[in-house]
Amino acid sequence: VVMNLMKARDKLQQQRQQDRQPTAAAAQAVPAAATPQASRPASQQTQPSPPLPATNNQEQKPKRKPHQADPETIRRWAEQAIQRQQPIFTAPLNGAIAGQPARLFYNRAAGPLPQGGALVMKAGYNEWEDIQLHNLQQADELKDLNNSDWLVVETKLPEDTWKLDFVVMDENSGRYDNNKGQDFALPLAEAPSQEDVLQERAAAFQRAEQQRLQALEQEEEKIHQQTMAAAREAAETAKRRYRQNRQTEWTREAESVVEERRSPDVANLPTSSRQDHLFAWSQGGPQAGHRTLLAYNRAAGPLRNSSDVSVVLGYDGWWQQDIRTEQFSRLNQQQLQEAGLQGEGHDWWGKAVEVPRTAAIIDFVFCDNARRAWDNNRQRDFHSDVVGALNPDQLVQHLCDMLQRESSSELARGEQAAADRTIRNAHQKALALKKRRAARRQILYTTPVAPRAGESMEVFYNPDATVLRGRPETWLRGSFNRWQHPQPIQPRVMTAALPGGVGFHRAAVQVPRDAHTVDIVLADSGDDDAGFFDNNDGLDYHIPVTGSSHPAQPLHIVHIAVEMAPVAKVGGMGDVVTALGRAVQDEGHRVEVILPKYDCMDYDQVRGLKQLRDFWCGGVQVKVWEAEIEDLRTILLEPSNGAFWVGCIYGRNDDAHRFAFFCNAALEYLKHHAPGSRPDILHCHDWSTAPIAYADTHPSRSVFTLHNLNFGADLIGRAMGGAAAATTVSPTYAVEVSGHPAIAPHLSKFYGVRNGIDQDIWDPTSDSFLPRLYDSKSETEGKAAAKAELRKHMSLSSADVPLVGVVTRLTHQKGIHLIKHAAWRTLERGGQFVLLGSAPDPRVQGEFNALAGDLGRQYPDRARLWFAYDEPLSHLIYAGCDMLLVPSIFEPCGLTQMVAMRYGTVPVVRRTGGLADTVFDVEHDDDRASATGMVTNGFSFDGSDAAGMDYALNRALSMWYNEPKAWRQLCQRVMEQDWSWADPALDYIELYHKALR
Ligand code: ADP
Repeated sequence: VVMNLMKARDKLQQQRQQDRQPTAAAAQAVPAAATPQASRPASQQTQPSPPLPATNNQEQKPKRKPHQADPETIRRWAEQAIQRQQPIFTAPLNGAIAGQPARLFYNRAAGPLPQGGALVMKAGYNEWEDIQLHNLQQADELKDLNNSDWLVVETKLPEDTWKLDFVVMDENSGRYDNNKGQDFALPLAEAPSQEDVLQERAAAFQRAEQQRLQALEQEEEKIHQQTMAAAREAAETAKRRYRQNRQTEWTREAESVVEERRSPDVANLPTSSRQDHLFAWSQGGPQAGHRTLLAYNRAAGPLRNSSDVSVVLGYDGWWQQDIRTEQFSRLNQQQLQEAGLQGEGHDWWGKAVEVPRTAAIIDFVFCDNARRAWDNNRQRDFHSDVVGALNPDQLVQHLCDMLQRESSSELARGEQAAADRTIRNAHQKALALKKRRAARRQILYTTPVAPRAGESMEVFYNPDATVLRGRPETWLRGSFNRWQHPQPIQPRVMTAALPGGVGFHRAAVQVPRDAHTVDIVLADSGDDDAGFFDNNDGLDYHIPVTGSSHPAQPLHIVHIAVEMAPVAKVGGMGDVVTALGRAVQDEGHRVEVILPKYDCMDYDQVRGLKQLRDFWCGGVQVKVWEAEIEDLRTILLEPSNGAFWVGCIYGRNDDAHRFAFFCNAALEYLKHHAPGSRPDILHCHDWSTAPIAYADTHPSRSVFTLHNLNFGADLIGRAMGGAAAATTVSPTYAVEVSGHPAIAPHLSKFYGVRNGIDQDIWDPTSDSFLPRLYDSKSETEGKAAAKAELRKHMSLSSADVPLVGVVTRLTHQKGIHLIKHAAWRTLERGGQFVLLGSAPDPRVQGEFNALAGDLGRQYPDRARLWFAYDEPLSHLIYAGCDMLLVPSIFEPCGLTQMVAMRYGTVPVVRRTGGLADTVFDVEHDDDRASATGMVTNGFSFDGSDAAGMDYALNRALSMWYNEPKAWRQLCQRVMEQDWSWADPALDYIELYHKALR
């Protein structure tokens, strides 16, 4: 810190000297801009530097009394000065003392300035880092000295003065006496050395930094407590909502059951509780929820020749074929009496049978035990009304209660999971916000951290950390409510918070009652045409305000995409649409997705699908469906020309044509058939929905996200041109593609935002595909169990050796030759190797089949290549391996390295695209990691040959073998890193706002 501070200081001084010191040439010409009034704001002109804090070395010395020279002595000194042709002298004669008043005498007659004007001393403290003006007075005690014209100024020197240069100015003529171009130096009898001052300042800066960070931390802690308290409340709400949702589902289920069981068809069945001489119920009919005797006269019907009797029973019109068979026995005298039946000439059989509590009608037929002879009431069956049956409402209630009882433990688990998820999301969101503030607070922060509407706040800004470094002034300007507020913040100069102008500058801002956001940009001047601006890379600085009378309105965002996980997913784009959509929705915005209605969609995961309407587009009828997919409202468009009834998403010769039609239909839908909906943002993805971005037929702003530049570059170029803002899926990929002709002209609105991973799907604390759940504390046991299971699955030996994994599509993008090489390398070094992947290209698949054969022969129990797409197995590999290889040749973002880390598996990657943004080499990337608030987490290499791969892989294997403790710590550390969408979602929201401006 001290070194940086010194360097910063040196630079500043150079800058300031250039800016301010009137050199010989300047003294002659004296341009207007060189005068302090023109170049310095009034507030900084006359303020002395603040005294140093009490620990200053100077304080420890006994103070000397200020020198009180009498007029006689002064005269003597003046005469001596004249004799020696010195134009100045000081009292005390041997020099001023820092921290004390001193007088400076100046003989105008000895210099170039004309008589009679008002003189000003332009004093440059400490090599002109601070400039002050002091008026010179006629020195009364020296009035009558011959051949001289003495003026005097008395000033108290700041404690930290190590040097004071000055020139004398004549205010009338504007001329200078700058000591023949060398400036005057005020003799200093006692002063700290420059080194002392700088060191003390560095210490003061550090103390201030410490206090500042402490205060910020305290406030962060408070904010965190509040957030988590709110999260706990939200968790209770989530539990309640989960229970309500389940109850709603049960009620719906019960209602549909009751609708069938109490349908007119059932109600209209002919019923009777007895048929004389044939059958009868005791107690006048079947009693709901009780056993009731049913009797049958064998002698009266088709069973007369049978030796026994059974009854087949159902209820409510044989509902769901839920039937029972009961064997009757002959009734004795007492039973006959109880049932009120006559014995004479009859042959009564019967049994007390269970009558379901929920039944309204009992259905039954009789047969012999062998089920050969039947009495089914001449094919109409017998039906009896249940006595005391539940009415439909009661039945619904009864069924709901039953469902609730049956699922009580599942309900409790679900409630708990919903609560846990809420807490975890809130926690992650809070950490993401905190991390953003922490990253920003090297540049800009506010007190309070969360400003309140109607109160004042202070903005602190460190120009040394931005493009404004070394500029003479820092100006703050801004507004409120994303520049929508009628009263913007008038430009104001910021003042240095510490002596010497190092570090943070501050300015106060009054926040209006109706502000929900403070918008800030910084510049080196208050004019509109300031030379240097810091507008936070085009996004401006925005600080949320609490307690506004006008809370921010949620944005309405519509994604238009041809993939959406998990129902229609081919690659990462589908994941982004769903997970980004959900994360932005979680931040309180309204998010919808428009998707083609494919025949090959996974409809099990589509909820509440219903048709809303239809419309015509380009002569084709398009049906509009609405559904909920992963909590997102989704509109599915189904053209009747069958464009999406082709069994796949891509891979047909007419993909471009089909998706162009989809884009037109989506726009037509939004314009004319989506009542009450005018989205702020249409967010489109890759070439397939690029036309949305350059269509000029809708009033919304469009945002375009590039997932892979390898396909449809023409359409992508046009989309880049039309979109209000454009993104790609990692900062490094953004740089890598920035020279491409489709991208290069649009860099000013192009941002790289790394993808996140879905924390609910990839979660070792709740992953049903793992033999044992674990978190970073139980990582050792959890991973050991997964490793054992994986080895069993893959028939690998269970030696104590490292297990290296790969999960990938086998295409050239993924670095096929490096994967093959790594397999051999791992085995040579005694490790084990597993690969899960499949190759769309049969030639590539052939190569891997050969590799599998070779490996199998040479290392039968140490290598396995598994050619399939197997989601459960992928989970086991992420958890069970020690390291995961991702040697991609290019990789827009890549998910597998982040998933691996979530499971405590160390990534070994080629440094490209999103891999470079997410994997920080334990040996080389400390600085790069901490610059983004991360810690190192893996191994990486450059180049695309085997030597590079070896370099990274060997180091990883060596660490595994030789430093088991460090390895375990690394595994735990990578598990704790946050790859959720919480942070990227905030970037997207900023970009949406930018697109709206
Ligand atoms: P890309 O989108 O280029 O294929 P990503 O790393 O962005 O690469 O995403 C790959 C996703 O597909 C990951 O979620 C990974 O787990 C999954 N995946 C890749 N191959 C397989 C496979 N053979 N079996 C199961 N999942 C796989």
